[in-house]
Amino acid sequence: MLPHHKAKALKSSSRRPAKDLCSECGLCDTYYVHYVREACPFLNQQIAPLEVQTHGRSRDLAREDDVYFGVHQQMVAAQKITPIPGAQWTGIVTTIATQMLTQGQVEGVVCVQNSDTDRFGPRPVLARTPAEVLAARVNKPTLSPNLSVLEEVERSGLRRLLVIGVGCQVQALRSVEQQLGLEKLYVLGTPCVDNVTRAGLEKFLQTTSRSPDTVVHYEFMQDFRVHFRHEDGSTETVPFFGLNTKKLKDIFAPSCLTCFDYVNSLADLVVGYMGAPFGWQWIVVRNPRGQEMLDLVMPLLRTQPVTSQGHRQPAVQQSIPAYDQGVTIPLWAARLMGLVIEKVGPKGLEYARFSIDSHFTRNYLYLLRHYPDKVPDHVPEYARQIVSQYQLPPA
Ligand code: FAD
Ligand code: SF4
Repeated sequence: MLPHHKAKALKSSSRRPAKDLCSECGLCDTYYVHYVREACPFLNQQIAPLEVQTHGRSRDLAREDDVYFGVHQQMVAAQKITPIPGAQWTGIVTTIATQMLTQGQVEGVVCVQNSDTDRFGPRPVLARTPAEVLAARVNKPTLSPNLSVLEEVERSGLRRLLVIGVGCQVQALRSVEQQLGLEKLYVLGTPCVDNVTRAGLEKFLQTTSRSPDTVVHYEFMQDFRVHFRHEDGSTETVPFFGLNTKKLKDIFAPSCLTCFDYVNSLADLVVGYMGAPFGWQWIVVRNPRGQEMLDLVMPLLRTQPVTSQGHRQPAVQQSIPAYDQGVTIPLWAARLMGLVIEKVGPKGLEYARFSIDSHFTRNYLYLLRHYPDKVPDHVPEYARQIVSQYQLPPA
């Protein structure tokens, strides 16, 4: 650990060495910036060794489920029997975190509330009470400097911590885990893709929703539609294929366009939705700490086994040039396509593979075009395997 006076000096001169690729994970806002060259996921991709450090082994590249979903001991689809109002899905993440606090497994939780003036403005906090965790429910769908509270964690002297975060935050956290002086660290991750700056989010809402200012929640769901919920409780759906690809292509943060850790490989437990049937959440238990977290809330959940249906590859292959050329189709045709693909398209784990394939091929092409020097080190072996199934347009 750095002495504090030295650390302060470093902090005041802190920069973000990943430059345009910075995902604002928050590490560089703390004196742990000292470790940035090793810890930053965009300067030093080290998923495989960190998997060994965290889970005791790296992905088995001969097993398709490992290649796609990372090291895991169990996957299951689940819903809270009594959903938490205002949560992103049914509130499994919030429930696990509040149970961890009330049952004494941890003394604090790193999570993201919203700012006083902006419901989607992220405000990372070290929550010490269930009410503070509850106040962090629902996605703030923007880059969020979660690790900026790590100094507060150290100052608070707490020894058992839960961190909720997306892949890039978790990768940086794992790299400095040994320096945090904790007795026990639990990591509850969500999958993450296509994140945006606050300005990018505004453009997405303005371009896509009928009433951008009243959106309180949105999600890209398994039925190939974006679902918006508005202040008055009404919902609005827009088919993926009707999105204005040309206008929206440049809103995603460059960090997210070069990311290959969609499934949050280094969390102990991952809670998302994309491997589960429509309306259900998808849970990936990566190691015994993750199982411990899930066991705490099992009595509060309804579960079913994960399933897989359909064939993603033709749809992914067709979508690659369409996305690359920024093809936008009229809304009526998009709705029709949405109906057809909902009936015959990939479902369950195959839907998750569809989404991973689509994003990894796009990101690989982006990296080849914009950061060719980074291709050899930045693309993990499992991602190369996934991308190699497809024919890409010329770089
Ligand atoms: P809740 O109980 O509502 O809790 C949400 C938690 O998310 C809170 O604890 C909060 O601290 C944390 N959080 C909110 N915003 C952020 C942020 N910007 N960075 C880090 N943590 C945050 N799942 C998929 O299966 N596929 C996807 O493509 C996908 N993309 C996502 C993109 C983003 C930017 C985020 C934040 C999440 C994404 N997820 C995705 C996860 C999914 O949307 C839900 O968050 C997850 O299923 C948990 O739902 P819940 O109701 O249990 O969460
Ligand atoms: Fe620093 Fe995180 Fe940005 Fe990397 S992604 S430069 S570690 S703030």
